[in-house]
Amino acid sequence: MSEKNTHFVCSGCFQDATLKEIINTKAERPGCDFCGCSDFPTIATSQIFNYIRSRVETFFTCSDYSGNFFVGDRDIHESTTWGRYPSDYLLEKIMLLGLPRDRNRLLLTAICDEALENKKWASLEYGRMPHDAYLKTLWWMFEVTVKHCRRFSLDKKIAGDGYTANEIFDEILPSLMKLKSPIQPGYRVYRARKSLTGEEFLSADELGPPPPKIATQSNRMNPPGIPYFYGADMEDAAVLETCIESCDAYSIGIFETKREIQIVDLSDLPPIKGWFTDVSLEERQRIKFLHEFSKQISEPIIGDDRTHLDYIPTQVFTELVRDRLGVHGIRYRSSKLPDASNIVLFISSNEVEGATKRGVLDQDILKSVYAPLEIIRLLDVKHIAGSIIDIEEEKPIGWCQMAARDIISDPVIRSYMSAQHDELEDNFDADIISRISEILKKYNN
Ligand SMILES: [Zn+2]
Repeated sequence: MSEKNTHFVCSGCFQDATLKEIINTKAERPGCDFCGCSDFPTIATSQIFNYIRSRVETFFTCSDYSGNFFVGDRDIHESTTWGRYPSDYLLEKIMLLGLPRDRNRLLLTAICDEALENKKWASLEYGRMPHDAYLKTLWWMFEVTVKHCRRFSLDKKIAGDGYTANEIFDEILPSLMKLKSPIQPGYRVYRARKSLTGEEFLSADELGPPPPKIATQSNRMNPPGIPYFYGADMEDAAVLETCIESCDAYSIGIFETKREIQIVDLSDLPPIKGWFTDVSLEERQRIKFLHEFSKQISEPIIGDDRTHLDYIPTQVFTELVRDRLGVHGIRYRSSKLPDASNIVLFISSNEVEGATKRGVLDQDILKSVYAPLEIIRLLDVKHIAGSIIDIEEEKPIGWCQMAARDIISDPVIRSYMSAQHDELEDNFDADIISRISEILKKYNN
């Protein structure tokens, strides 16, 4: 292409961070042939269009099939395998290519013509189940198996040639292995205990895991009779997870780990990388599954008669994680407080420094022989006296209110709203929508 016919496009014409960076790094002559502005660096269209094509071909294949095809609606799921998309639909609706300055669609048309030849595109996973959907299906089969088929013989097939629960776990195992990570000595864990009579709990016995004989409750990760230690990395989260109302009295034990331990960390998953980053198809699907899985296992379960049943899959799963990965715990996001994490440690009072009550093994014998196995110690205790106050006023605000507060106090959004006050349109500027999406993302994991 001669210099005369070469067109240039600026980074201001793209919303995607990776595409912006590629253009800003190259930074050719000022002056964009699409938006007409000179406020951002530009790049020759052939270069950025070739890159866009390479990203499209990472996930989709050009499809010449001319029969009927499904275009989908606004709610289409990106994992749909039977969709075949026209180029513009693929870029706009599936890969969410944002072109904030492209009011007359000149840029979109150019990308479709020059990069994608205006062809129709189908997922590379066309005709087979996407990997994330496959893993989700396996987890669903695991749930059904241990809830309704068999729970203690995990090597028996459910029916005919189906999978065993162990085989299903084996398929999910490689994804979990990548989440195994160490926790260093000195990691703080908060654990709250409600006091019905106003008494103050002081000791490791009172604030640590319950003795096995009285651990009769069915919990998210442990079945009755097998005590685990539940805590949170933030004090407020520990209180909220224990369902303590503002008028209750309670004690908070501040624990810390005594030595390095290994956990499976579902609380700090890598983000699902955008379509235009360097992520591969398989990696993107694997991370997507882990995000959905992590969200599902930390979701609150309604405390009714079904609770015992609904907790069974995570209880069996936890035991498999514990034994097959050789870890001491699982950390997962708090569903009650954004930014906080909960942690479950597979320990009884035997592994708590200073605990004197009988754990799974006899305490006296154990402590004399296995003292180095202690995992946590109680550092400090805090007591909150109960008070008679209006619970309605003191309830912690929900994520929706917190998100709304963050949005209306954001300086960029504030200045936009005041500038647009007199002529506010139905459609907000794309930059503002993306800003709001960024804020909401924090609450959407
Ligand atoms: Zn431009």
